[in-house]
Amino acid sequence: MPFLAPGVLHVATTKRDNAFLLDGDDGLTLVDVGWSSAPKKLLDVVAERRLKPTDIKRIVLTHAHPDHVQGASELRRLTGAQVVIHRDDADWLPVGRVPAHGRFGALGRIIDRLPKLHWTPFTADRTVTDGELIDGSDGLRVIHTPGHSPGHIVLHHEPSSTILVGDAVFHRGELALGPAALAADPSLRVESLTRVPADIHAVGFAHGAPLKHAGVDAFQEFLARLRQPPATTAS
Ligand SMILES: [Zn+2]
Ligand SMILES: [Zn+2]
Repeated sequence: MPFLAPGVLHVATTKRDNAFLLDGDDGLTLVDVGWSSAPKKLLDVVAERRLKPTDIKRIVLTHAHPDHVQGASELRRLTGAQVVIHRDDADWLPVGRVPAHGRFGALGRIIDRLPKLHWTPFTADRTVTDGELIDGSDGLRVIHTPGHSPGHIVLHHEPSSTILVGDAVFHRGELALGPAALAADPSLRVESLTRVPADIHAVGFAHGAPLKHAGVDAFQEFLARLRQPPATTAS
């Protein structure tokens, strides 16, 4: 498993889905879990590093979508870690699925009826808000980026100048904002990304390959293009 940056381990929980394990003051902080199959994969990685399940001290969820949270309650049971999420997504965890108002488009509301997109209802141990440093994480800062979901957060690992963007940006082949129908309020997504720090060295995505070096420049250019007003057509 490759390190994206010093202290930031990239774990591909499936071919499409990523989680990140961060070294901290008191153990490991996990950013996102994944589907129900993810806990086994994550604990295998922990064992390869000669660490114990209980070394995972907290599980920070970028948002409450099934591909991020489905394995979270099981992993909490196996590790004793605290589950942390932004307060604006916390109410969805005990529902066990994304509620109808959580998707902008009909397509999103239809797919959320599928049992395979549900999760065992559970409750977060702690909620966070914009600007907070996650306790014990050794420099992981919360940036509230609503749009994809109301309580979506990007996490800024300040010691390594790495950002973990969750689903605020996808990198499946190309950089993109993802389908509007699956977002809660697509109109907020670009504005939210203006809050992401510019001076960074690495970017981790929940979906798609992480970026370093020249890849970070491509990411910055993608953000700059988003911020440009739409071209006006000559009449
Ligand atoms: Zn999502
Ligand atoms: Zn996702």
